[in-house]
Amino acid sequence: MDYGEKNILVLGAGSSGIGAAWVLAQLHANVVLNDYKPVEFESSTRKKLDDAGVTIITGRQDNSLLNGVDRIVISPGIALSIPIVQEAFNRHIEVVSEVELAYDVCKSPILGVTGTNGKTTTTTLLTQVMESTGLPIKVGGNIGDSLSEAAFNMPEGGYLIAELSSYQLETIKSFCPLGAIVLNVTPDHLARHKTMENYAAAKARIFMNQNAENFVVLNDDDPIVAAMKKDVHSKILSISQHHKVECGAYFEGNTCYAVLNGNVISVIDTEQIHIKGAHNIENILSVIALTYALGVDVERIKRTIENFHGVEHRLERVTTIHDVTFYNDSKATNTDSVVKALDAFDKPVILLAGGHDKMTPLEDFMNVVKKNTKEVIFMGEAAERFESVATKVGVTNIHRAQSMKEAVELGYKLAEPSDIVLLSPACSSFDWYSCFEERGDDFKKCVKELEERG
Ligand code: ADP
Repeated sequence: MDYGEKNILVLGAGSSGIGAAWVLAQLHANVVLNDYKPVEFESSTRKKLDDAGVTIITGRQDNSLLNGVDRIVISPGIALSIPIVQEAFNRHIEVVSEVELAYDVCKSPILGVTGTNGKTTTTTLLTQVMESTGLPIKVGGNIGDSLSEAAFNMPEGGYLIAELSSYQLETIKSFCPLGAIVLNVTPDHLARHKTMENYAAAKARIFMNQNAENFVVLNDDDPIVAAMKKDVHSKILSISQHHKVECGAYFEGNTCYAVLNGNVISVIDTEQIHIKGAHNIENILSVIALTYALGVDVERIKRTIENFHGVEHRLERVTTIHDVTFYNDSKATNTDSVVKALDAFDKPVILLAGGHDKMTPLEDFMNVVKKNTKEVIFMGEAAERFESVATKVGVTNIHRAQSMKEAVELGYKLAEPSDIVLLSPACSSFDWYSCFEERGDDFKKCVKELEERG
């Protein structure tokens, strides 16, 4: 779309909305940035938007904002079901995500990563491997900067790397990444997507505009992702930890292999990998498959993986106190990521879980908890429902904590030498905290206080 002199309404004044509004103003659009709630901008942000000529309307949102609007750019946090968006549909105003705008303005190819879990870890590793080539690389989307701003500032000849949630993909139109990764699809965000079918379909949009020149990495070990193959028009790079693949990457014995044009090449062994768990092998395989297909030298791929120690709040080792080791997995906001965390340890752990309840089914999850934990400590809003389902499936050593401090101290008290205390909540953090980072930081602070007390 040519945005010059067009009237664009940007909905949502978070980082992606702010980035989009600024970029649109650079393209000489007439931009209104709107949020239904009052927003306190940092003074530098306010100045940047004012200097660009963006009109800011916050603290209200009514249909008069739609008058004369040519297009809406919507932030990922906003559901399509809200009244102003529904009214925009009635008036046949096009509604696109900030990702679409990023695609419109980007001068370099885009590599996109989606999936229920592992996006940030995979995007970070992918970025580091691509950076090792010396080409200009920028990253954005669900991670770091607004994607449209990163895209706008992207020089030619590099790659823009995009972490993409289902929300961002819901409203793309022509967005077409050169390379896409779909890691996994397990229950999450069903309050917004309603059904698993809708949720999987939103993820699959990442490759819907691709052609034979493009690549998509699909995880053979995830049945929903593997079933997407029938809808693909680009080159499929499969990954698996259970069988060899014809093209892509697989794990066998102790080794990750890349496969391209019939050639199999050994990339890295598990002893050289520092991030724990089979789920991280999945993330690594997807990066190997895509970067190798893009022509990155295998030694560079290997060296980058060797130097990768994971991302904070994702199965992050905090410390060991008198032979009890604490792990912070605050980013585990759904049950599948907790299952993966429990699988990553070779013995039952002391699990701290709970938070703001996402109301997804719990029975299968609690059966895994029963097998892979020795004690569980539930906290937050979800504690009651978690405890009731856990009791129903026969989990026995259940405790409750009223604060993070209490949970950490109780976990330590219950621990025996060589035990693991794991915060992996299976819930979002919004009951006690503003974000998962704050929850993870609080956990680490409580652990450090315990350590200082000896
Ligand atoms: P996302 O950005 O998709 O939320 P993260 O990399 O931030 O993914 O990880 C979120 C949580 O999921 C963490 O608890 C992490 O340990 C776990 N995780 C990471 N990779 C995977 C994977 N491939 N499958 C399942 N869980 C994963």
